[in-house]
Amino acid sequence: MKISILCIGNELLSGKTLNTNASWISRKLSDIGCDILEHLVVPDKKETIITGLEHLTIKNPGCVIITGGLGPTDDDITRPTIFEYVGTDSRFDEDYWTLLSEKFQKLGMSIPASNRNQALVPINGEVIENPGGSARGLKFLLNGEEMLFVLPGVPSEMKDMMNASVIPWIKENVKTSTSTRTLRTTGIPESALIEEIVEPISSNHGCNIGYYPSLYGVDIRISSGFQDKVNELSNKLYNILGHKIYCEGEYDIENVVVKNAIDKDKTIALAESCTGGLIGDRITDTGGSSKVFKGSMVVYSNKAKIDLLGVNKNTLDSFGAVSEEVAKEMANKVRKTFLTDYGLSVTGVAGPGGGTENKPVGLVYIGLSDENKTEVRRFNFSSDRKKNKLKTSQVALDWLRLTLINE
Ligand code: AMP
Ligand code: MG
Repeated sequence: MKISILCIGNELLSGKTLNTNASWISRKLSDIGCDILEHLVVPDKKETIITGLEHLTIKNPGCVIITGGLGPTDDDITRPTIFEYVGTDSRFDEDYWTLLSEKFQKLGMSIPASNRNQALVPINGEVIENPGGSARGLKFLLNGEEMLFVLPGVPSEMKDMMNASVIPWIKENVKTSTSTRTLRTTGIPESALIEEIVEPISSNHGCNIGYYPSLYGVDIRISSGFQDKVNELSNKLYNILGHKIYCEGEYDIENVVVKNAIDKDKTIALAESCTGGLIGDRITDTGGSSKVFKGSMVVYSNKAKIDLLGVNKNTLDSFGAVSEEVAKEMANKVRKTFLTDYGLSVTGVAGPGGGTENKPVGLVYIGLSDENKTEVRRFNFSSDRKKNKLKTSQVALDWLRLTLINE
């Protein structure tokens, strides 16, 4: 099925908001075999929205997906504009208005009159429920053939509504279906990865393969019209890459760490210096992390390392904060402080300043301690500050993941 995406919002054009809706929708729909023809971004302006829609529908895609501008404020004009474009009258949905008013009441507020436009429903069109917010979506059939979906701009609400309403409709109506698997790898650069899997990928496997490198690793996306071909090639890659594949699809490495720790009944504590709490942040993004994650100490200064964590002042004076010895003490002390199975520590030079010849920007020591031993590994990421922090968190989480697998 051919799809076009229209995103509406002044903030998208000014660059204040990144248009993540278009990329998320494209990825989701490509995975099920749709052709994405075009992304168009327009301001909250009636004439431009209409010109944009005319431009997209002239190409006659099977479906246009619109996001943004369904809110209650003055600048949110998508609803009346679409009604005008489609040529439908609307009616005021009293039941929905009562429901919305009650929701506001529960929050101790009276509903603003500006929310009334969210209770308008089209005569010639359908409403898509929004379990996560007040802006319901809309669905229209144009000229008896083209589908128009209108969804809120808030990414979480848009995604829930896509998953619950739009994707099931597209799957039912899509002519050819595509099966896709995305194998997520980490700890191996793209060129080395391709060298390792050169044999299966150059065989006659009947799949399309895409490589998506990022700071987290390289994702391998395999798709085909035949599920068994995708599975066959995926199995061959698993046989070669093994645990370099940390998961599939939309999961992240922190989700895998938390799941593995729960499965193995192991607890984790962190002592973070150069990552400033990023690893703890990532772990706690995962539901259920409280079962295994006991706490993190962000010990950024030497004083904090000594006073809060109990790192030996002599160790710091002799070897410096960014050293194998300090990483070792940090991992060991944090494990003992929180009484966990594992203590993980990171200390490094995030940059841009602070680097020396011996200890350049990007130098990072990561320590991992359990009741039997404390090991330290040295890395040099030599990127900028943000990237160094992110790469450090990824490598640290991967080490934890692999350790948990072997438990
Ligand atoms: P709206 O539906 O236009 O009221 O937007 C609600 C929120 O969603 C605002 O915070 C927008 O910045 C955000 N938003 C709107 N469109 C997009 C988009 N295409 N990608 C990511 N965020 C968006
Ligand atoms: Mg808006």
